[in-house]
Amino acid sequence: MRKNIVAGNWKMNKNLQEGTQLVAEILNLLKTKTIKSKDELGIVFGTPFISLEACAKLLCGSEQIAVSAQNCYDKESGAYTGEISAAMIKSTGAKYIIIGHSERREYFNESSEMLAKKVDITLKHGLIPIFCCGEKLEVRNANKHFDLVKQQIVESLFHLPEAEFKKVVIAYEPVWAIGTGVTASSQQAQEMHAFIRGVLKEKYGQSVADSISILYGGSCNAANAAELFANPDVDGGLIGGASLKAEDFVKIIEAVK
Ligand code: PGA
Repeated sequence: MRKNIVAGNWKMNKNLQEGTQLVAEILNLLKTKTIKSKDELGIVFGTPFISLEACAKLLCGSEQIAVSAQNCYDKESGAYTGEISAAMIKSTGAKYIIIGHSERREYFNESSEMLAKKVDITLKHGLIPIFCCGEKLEVRNANKHFDLVKQQIVESLFHLPEAEFKKVVIAYEPVWAIGTGVTASSQQAQEMHAFIRGVLKEKYGQSVADSISILYGGSCNAANAAELFANPDVDGGLIGGASLKAEDFVKIIEAVK
């Protein structure tokens, strides 16, 4: 059965010292808690590139906890000043790359076509893409949110053969809920997650659709995580602001069903 995942997305926050301190604090707190087993729950720290290696080292080869980059470039290597490749990310000990976050789509003009290439290169290097999708408020208000999310998934993921697709994690993040304090209601989250699973089923069949972890993201916090995660199609969360505070992030980890 699919696994729940609680993934922090630190965005452009925490320098190297602050980042390693945060991970150390969370690991210490987790020692005092009873959490789900590694087969039921994965924990991910989505750190800035500069902290990946140091944070990965703190995890001492854990099978439950891993680090993730927040982006990669869509080329293998070469004259792309300032960019970071999937192979470089792999060399830090990271296991995941967040692909297609709405901030990347919006501020860095990342197209579906480019994201498809990023997904491919992530998988090629044995890393797991956490592929983000989600609509802006005007799209929801126009009742086009299901169409848009389907389109994002079809355009960037559905070229994958089944064996590769099965490795992908999807995060549904309504743009209007990100960093706004306005979370999707539990019902809105479940409705979209069930819709996404249906889209996956049409293409890859029921058993593949049932095996994919679909995370919710957008103002998920220590107070609302349990209700959101209780939904049958919500398999944990991608957490921004609340992943920057050790106690809050640990509470969210404990909220996994
Ligand atoms: P937020 O961000 O939890 O701060 O809303 C979520 C995200 O952007 O991944």
